[in-house]
Amino acid sequence: MSNEFDNDSIVDKFTHFLTNGKFRKTPERYAILRKAIELHSHFDVDALHMAIERDSYHVSRATVYNTVELLEDAGILSKNVFGQNPAMYEVNHDNHIHLVCKRCGKIREIENSHIAGHVMQLHTEDFTADSFAITIYGLCGECCPKDKG
Ligand SMILES: [Zn+2]
Ligand SMILES: [Zn+2]
Repeated sequence: MSNEFDNDSIVDKFTHFLTNGKFRKTPERYAILRKAIELHSHFDVDALHMAIERDSYHVSRATVYNTVELLEDAGILSKNVFGQNPAMYEVNHDNHIHLVCKRCGKIREIENSHIAGHVMQLHTEDFTADSFAITIYGLCGECCPKDKG
């Protein structure tokens, strides 16, 4: 991802969310958030859980799952379902386009201000767009090598 996250403001946002919702501010929840930020990519709940375990920090999968849902409700994580894969999460950042390889599942991100401008100007009755997610499916370079010569 090209964007750097403002980690402090993300953590503050989560604190506000937990306070307002009267959720407990447990160290586990913050450890999960910090790891999600650190991964800096798209991940599913199991990958996030494994990354936390690798730091020898033990939390249950259920805790990871519940915290990911809280983070989604807080508007910090966004959820994408790509094809048959489990739901993938990422820290919210600017509108971007996902290129998903149908064979190996690799996800790439691109930004295209031309498309973004068009999408945000779509005039749909009784609807005002404020963000978007576009997924394009195909084959990545490794799964579909270009002919040379
Ligand atoms: Zn591929
Ligand atoms: Zn993304």
